[in-house]
Parts: sequence; C-alpha cells; structure tokens
Amino acid sequence: MRSPLLALLVSVGCAVSGFVGCEPSPVVNTPATAPSASVAAAPTATAPAPTTPVPEVPTAAPVASIATTEALPPITKSGAKLTWYGHAAFKLVTPKGKVLFVDPWITNPKNPTGKDDLAKIDKADLVLVTHGHFDHVGDAVAIAKKTKAKLVTTFDVGKAMVQHVGYPKDLAGFDTQGNFGGELALLDGEVNVTFVPAVHSSAVQNAKGDAFAAGNAGGFVIAVKDGPVVYHTGDTDLFSDMALVPTKRPITVMLACIGDHFVMGPDRAAEAVKLVRPGMVVPMHFGTFPVLRGTPEAFEGELKKRGLATKLQVMQPGATLDL
Ligand SMILES: [Zn+2]
Repeated sequence: MRSPLLALLVSVGCAVSGFVGCEPSPVVNTPATAPSASVAAAPTATAPAPTTPVPEVPTAAPVASIATTEALPPITKSGAKLTWYGHAAFKLVTPKGKVLFVDPWITNPKNPTGKDDLAKIDKADLVLVTHGHFDHVGDAVAIAKKTKAKLVTTFDVGKAMVQHVGYPKDLAGFDTQGNFGGELALLDGEVNVTFVPAVHSSAVQNAKGDAFAAGNAGGFVIAVKDGPVVYHTGDTDLFSDMALVPTKRPITVMLACIGDHFVMGPDRAAEAVKLVRPGMVVPMHFGTFPVLRGTPEAFEGELKKRGLATKLQVMQPGATLDL
C-alpha cells in the first residue's frame, strides 16, 4: 500500500514521463490543474474508459467556407493602372503617376510587341524582381539604365543582380532591399511593399549562362496609397501560409502563376485563390513555353468547381486594367 504522498508523486511522475510501471492514471482525463490527493486516489474502476474519438472528416476545409461566404475586397477605380506584358511581367502605375515594373521580361515570347514596348519605356520609379531566374530578371537592367529605377528585391537577389547581370549598384541599396516579412514604405509613402515567401528556387544567370546563388524566391504585396493591394505570387507552388498573405491588408488583385511544370498549375492555383481570397485574380506565367501548359480555361474551371466568388480577369499581353 502506497502512502497518499507517494501515490501523488507517482501519479504526477506518470503524467509527466509516462514511464513503464505507472498505473493507468485518471490524470489523463483531468484538467491540467495542480494535482490533488483525491485525484491521485480516485478509483480507476469507476472512471469511464477512455475512448478515442473518431475524427470527423470535414467536407470542406475551413478556409473554403470563409472564401465562399466572406465579402471579398471590392475592385474600385482609384486611377491606378495595371498592364500585363505576358509571362510574369507587369507595370503598375499609381494614381499619382509613379511607375513600378514587376518581373519585367518585356521581350518575352508571349509579347508580340516586346521590343517596341521596351524601347518606349521612358519612366520607371521601381523595378521589383521576385527571384533571380532569367524569365523574371528579364529586362530589368535595360530599364534601370535608362530610367534610374531603384531595384526592389530581397538582399540576396539584389546582390546577385548587381554582381552578375549588371544592375547599377547605386540603384540597389538598403532603402529598397528587404527580406520576407519586411515592409517598405517607398516613393514617399505612395506604395508599401511587403516581401512574402514563395515555394520556388532562385539563382541568377550571367550572360554566359553561369548560375549564381541568389537567396530564396518570393512574391510581393504592393499596397498602393488610396488604391489597390496587388499580390504578385512570383513563381511558386501552393502553400498553406498563403492564407496569411491577406492578414494585414485584404488583397484586391492577385496575380497568380498557373502554368504548371515549374510552378503551380490551374488546380493548385485555384486552391491558392481560396486561401488568399482576392477580389480579382489575373492568371500569369502560362503559355510562354509549351511546357507551361496550364490555361486560363482550365483555371476558370477549377475556380468554378470550388464556388469561389473571386472575379477571374484574363488579360492579353499589352492590355491594361483600371484599378
Ligand atoms: Zn518563372
């Protein structure tokens, strides 16, 4: 027969360590409060047998029900303009006329007027690059050399772009370089750029095709003052933390890669929309090469299958949206 004190000590020890020789302990079903003598001495014979609850299989993830019932950010006309050049290349002009390029591969094969479009660019305030691959660095250096646009990248991508592809060093300083989780108020507060992760890789290639490490791939949340909040996913797979992207600012427009093969395809991109809950989604990064076989039609089908309220906006290269 154990003394009450010994029983208490053994019981607590069992609860903590579960060592062999412990009696079946009622402490398992007791709230985690200080143990009392009555708990330690409670007869186990009358305690209900512990049962393992059978988990119910949810018919839909909780986020899905949020996506279908929650009001989505409205698309209002603020005077901002968004132009797509094909692939992942966009221009965003703010209501005050500031010009941002994102992943500016203007001369990509999907853009029939790429060379002319590049030649016509005479103003840019910022160039944002999600990661170091050639199809995203694109024409960034050419644009910077003629416009003096500052480079917005993670520190590692920026360093590699300066060292290996010739982005002007004086345009790639700490004022516009960041890393994931960081928010930068830029252009006198006209835009706020947040660095968000992506699931992809990042290396910068020089003109000879040699590859150099360039940190991690990411995406951007670009909040325009008195205008839209634009989420450019960069190149990525679907990942559950996308649900955190709109935590601080609901996303007005999501620019989502859908091409498959190197990035998420239409089905996984639709799941991403379910997590991000944007007012509008614009598909990108498809059809540039044959392997990027995801199509807007398939994406539309996947969005419909999920009953999502987000508006699908398919753009053509050269098209501009008023946001
Ligand atoms: Zn890419």
